[in-house]
Amino acid sequence: MAYEDMKTLGKSVGLEIKDRNEMNLFLKYQHDIGNLIYFEDIPDLVILQPQWLVDVLKCLVSARKFQIRRNIVYNSDWKGLETTGRLTEDLITQAFTGEGDGTDFVKYRRHILQIMQKFDIIVKPDIAEEESVSSLDENGEIDKSKMPTVHYYVPCLIKSKAISNIVDSFKVDGKDFNRTSWMCMHFDFLPPAFFNHVLVNYIRRYQISREPSKHGSKLALYRGMGVFNLDSSGRTKLAVCVSKHVILFQIWKWCKHSQVFFKDIWEHAEASITGIKGRYKMNVSYTVKMKCCNGSYDNPDGMVEMTKLESEEEYFCDEHAELHKSKDLLNSWFREELNAEMLNYVRLAKTVTDLMPEVMGEQLKSDGFEITANTSMTFRSLFTSFQLQNKHKPTNGKWASPMCPKEDTEIGVGDDVKRWRFVLNELKNHSKISDESIVGLEKVLANVFIRSEKLFESCSFVSKYQKIMTDMFEANDYDVYLQKVKHEIIPDTFEVNIRRHFQMIMQEISVGKILDQMMTHCMLSIEDRRHIEQHVKQTEQNQALLDIIINRNRSTFNVFIDALRESGYDDIVELLSCDLEDITVETRTTEMEGLSAWTVPLHKVRLQKNYVDIISNIKHEAVVDHLISCQLLTIDDQQIIEACAAQTEKNRKLMDRLLHCGEKCFMEFLNALRSDDIYADLANQIGQTVVTSIDIATLQSCYAKM
Ligand SMILES: [Zn+2]
Ligand SMILES: [Zn+2]
Repeated sequence: MAYEDMKTLGKSVGLEIKDRNEMNLFLKYQHDIGNLIYFEDIPDLVILQPQWLVDVLKCLVSARKFQIRRNIVYNSDWKGLETTGRLTEDLITQAFTGEGDGTDFVKYRRHILQIMQKFDIIVKPDIAEEESVSSLDENGEIDKSKMPTVHYYVPCLIKSKAISNIVDSFKVDGKDFNRTSWMCMHFDFLPPAFFNHVLVNYIRRYQISREPSKHGSKLALYRGMGVFNLDSSGRTKLAVCVSKHVILFQIWKWCKHSQVFFKDIWEHAEASITGIKGRYKMNVSYTVKMKCCNGSYDNPDGMVEMTKLESEEEYFCDEHAELHKSKDLLNSWFREELNAEMLNYVRLAKTVTDLMPEVMGEQLKSDGFEITANTSMTFRSLFTSFQLQNKHKPTNGKWASPMCPKEDTEIGVGDDVKRWRFVLNELKNHSKISDESIVGLEKVLANVFIRSEKLFESCSFVSKYQKIMTDMFEANDYDVYLQKVKHEIIPDTFEVNIRRHFQMIMQEISVGKILDQMMTHCMLSIEDRRHIEQHVKQTEQNQALLDIIINRNRSTFNVFIDALRESGYDDIVELLSCDLEDITVETRTTEMEGLSAWTVPLHKVRLQKNYVDIISNIKHEAVVDHLISCQLLTIDDQQIIEACAAQTEKNRKLMDRLLHCGEKCFMEFLNALRSDDIYADLANQIGQTVVTSIDIATLQSCYAKM
């Protein structure tokens, strides 16, 4: 009965229905208690007798014997329905009108079809475009007249077909073809109708693929299986099938890099199962398993739980009787694909860390610059070599400016070295490179390689570069190149100045007082001092200090310069400060990883900040005696201290002990000083020394590995 009929009926018995909402509520209530059938979203049909609906459905879907009686089984559309599940509009009309006994089926045709769709009994598919299958069709011809106008499908009437045949017609074992492993939902109990709901869900969401055939392609929809196009080109397809109580998914692709994220497909599959469970109030649960890609979907052997694959490297496949790598199964669905920005990063990083060193090494070799065993092919070493060689000065005379050289005028070898520095610095500051910013950088690099290839014709730098910029990479490569860039060091110009005069400085200076100064500024740790002083010869100690400074930053270098000046090495200061370029950005960042949990204790910073004052003023005897009496120092310590000749030397040894002791020792040290009036002021000065976070960070960075 239609809504309008009901209104008329109401009127005839003196019941005026005015409020449609009220009517809706009433009908919903009646539906819930089972008096009639009514759906809010199909309000124009109110079914008073459930048997009426059963009769309608019987006309179309139910057993053949009812149909034989009604003489329509010999119709070709009916045969289509029986074999492919295809329900034509003609057939619907015939079935509804065939019944002469005043059922009004035809009148309610639209509503009946709506109800049947609501229950997934019939579904109107999104038919694959013929273009998308033409690539699969050997003859390249599809008869247009055979392209059906969109018909309904009745999933439960679709005939089954052996999967091997289906797979054969799709030629899924051919060249350029890839299939993922099987994702399996292993249900404890799977109601027979459940899979039809799953299939209908996919029919609504994706185009059904067409099964290629010489005799005209057919929709790839079978009993217990469907194949769907995941992209508009049809190069990526999803096979969904059921076998006993397992629902299986496999993706077939005819291209190397699909635009489809397989992980999303799986997530959607799980979400749709949850949806179906909720909608039809079916309380079923499943375990997620996987099966190797060549495994047959209807063979329950060789299915492994996904949790097992995640925890174990290999497993024994019961279908193939061989070991499979868990990673292979998992990766085919869940390997992270690089997005465009990450891909841009990898390409640039590979160019800068692999190809550029090749170009620059070639340049240095042709200049006759001696590339020794110590000259590694890192940016740091090659960049410093160019500066030391000083043959190819950048056009503006500076090596360290933060700007990229001008494309039209600054085109010397030195400028290209600077471009290398520039791009590397960009990669250090950005972990992703947008499509907009890669355009500029790509051009800058391309020109560098074109210029280099003019100088070295035999080295095909340009084509190597083009290959990198078009190569595809994986998530793993991204991590590798991120680390590679991080470990490349962009040296400050003071490094070149030290290297230029390294031998001379090594011979000239004496480090003792310089170390005192640097420790007072927290630029060296007591461990650094021990490391330097373990060497016997003065030149070796000097070399050890220079090596440490080269690996630290500009502030360390500045304190070193001040200490040199105070020790009277003015000419060395002059040489080291010459042509020193200002740095606008600190290019050296200290690696603090693994140290974050530990901070330098405050008393150590206080001791270091008073280092020079302590060693040049105190007399150690009383202090050492007091600390021994408190059992904080030993007789051995005392002997080591006394073994030194000069007072300052003895004091330095005492400081070495103090800097290795805890806070209690520090407090007793201050108490010992206070017991002597001469040192009371010094004791207070040490105790009240202000410690800033910069002091702590500076000292802490001495402990970080470079
Ligand atoms: Zn296998
Ligand atoms: Zn930038």
